[in-house]
Amino acid sequence: MKKNILTVLFAFTLLFFTVSCSGAANQEPLERVRVKYYGSGDLSIHFLELGNKFTGDCVYINYGEVDIIIDAGSRRSSATAIIEYIDNHIQDNKIEFIIATHAHQDHIAAFHSTSSVKGILDTYEIETIIDFPKTNSTTATYNNYRNTRERLKENGTYHYTALQCYRETNGAQRVYDLGGDVQLEILYNPYYETYSSNENNYSVCVKIIQGDKQYIFTGDLEEEGENYMVDYYAANHGGLGQCVLYKGGHHGSDTSSHAKLMAAIMPDYVCVCTCAGTYEYSFNVERNRFPSQGFIDRVAPYTDEVYITTLIIDYPNNLYESFNGDIVFLVSDSIISINCSNNNLKLKETEWFLNNKTMPDAWKPKEILELVSLAE
Ligand SMILES: [Zn+2]
Ligand SMILES: [Zn+2]
Repeated sequence: MKKNILTVLFAFTLLFFTVSCSGAANQEPLERVRVKYYGSGDLSIHFLELGNKFTGDCVYINYGEVDIIIDAGSRRSSATAIIEYIDNHIQDNKIEFIIATHAHQDHIAAFHSTSSVKGILDTYEIETIIDFPKTNSTTATYNNYRNTRERLKENGTYHYTALQCYRETNGAQRVYDLGGDVQLEILYNPYYETYSSNENNYSVCVKIIQGDKQYIFTGDLEEEGENYMVDYYAANHGGLGQCVLYKGGHHGSDTSSHAKLMAAIMPDYVCVCTCAGTYEYSFNVERNRFPSQGFIDRVAPYTDEVYITTLIIDYPNNLYESFNGDIVFLVSDSIISINCSNNNLKLKETEWFLNNKTMPDAWKPKEILELVSLAE
């Protein structure tokens, strides 16, 4: 009995020591990495900050001369931040693939131009646009996006819906070779052709395949869409397969990244385009504050490599700063590294996480769990 008490005491002392030592406050941010051009064989996937307090997605992918942008949120003004970033990397001013996942403004607002801001679609030469087959949207943002897309089509840009890609109709392809052993695959999401009252379920889902590695992007797909897609792939394609990288679904919302999808893809790295701590979508419900505890708990059994773009300090007063900042997932000579503009701390190592979220068991040091269970 006495021995048990001593063991528990020891375990908690160790836990305290470990947690205090892993706090962000005690760590110097790692060296800021901003490589202008990567090596010609390198694949880089960039999760961008969007220059304002609003959560939204923009993922920029570069492989050799191929450039891909998945979404351009969060507001029209984000175009400035996105273009400034991409201009530092793009070599030929040409974007081979624009993928617009769904009609919400935090995914498409920076594509079109306004009188004061030039949008992404008018800044670069756009070869192909792939977007959502279905929408319930009638917003001005969606209409502006669609009108810009139609204007580009008249000038030679290819446009396919994700369903046309998956079915390989109208000249669209399900898989595009990007050179070397890298491919872009447009995945099937049953909501491409099924009504949903939730716009997020219409999200275009894609994979980048690099040899035996896969990286998956599901936009804002919600739990029902995830489950539907996992079942479809299990029945028709032998499963989605393990994915080294997963873009945290729907900004780390509690309504996405559910158990079935996580079990199907078992991610090693999770990067989230989100403003940590925002009340933007939470309606003051703690459970929904991005990145949600539910998202964290469901991802934790697979990986602790979780990275977040932006941090809200004070939402009503527009105060925000970088969390990890722009996150670059780089594959160079088969070696994977994460290089962020602000710091390279894992979510669990940050002061914000320790102060605002609960550490899932899977992220607690193993020895401590073992000692505690021995003492019980
Ligand atoms: Zn969104
Ligand atoms: Zn959405």
